[in-house]
Amino acid sequence: MERIDSCHSIWLFDTERMRFRRVPKETSIDTPALESDWEPYYGLEISPDSGAFAVALNQSRTRLLRSWRHTEPCEHCAPVTVDVDATGEVSLAEASEPNTG
Ligand SMILES: [Zn+2]
Repeated sequence: MERIDSCHSIWLFDTERMRFRRVPKETSIDTPALESDWEPYYGLEISPDSGAFAVALNQSRTRLLRSWRHTEPCEHCAPVTVDVDATGEVSLAEASEPNTG
């Protein structure tokens, strides 16, 4: 079982059965998992440099779920100290993307 903590979720990968589930951080991972909580996956790529990872949801790896490892300090969820106008632009751009947090 491989575990990855992203900013908002805990990802659990059952590497033997090639299935994974994503648990919101506010949920205890000790909560018993239902069989239906698990989704199959076909590959997991982790970038050791950036902490970004991609989960392949189909065999041809055309459907990918992307997220980032949460690290301390975290550039993805830590408050960013830039001026207000720039922050507004960033959040607008991010809002158009699916949140895989
Ligand atoms: Zn984070």
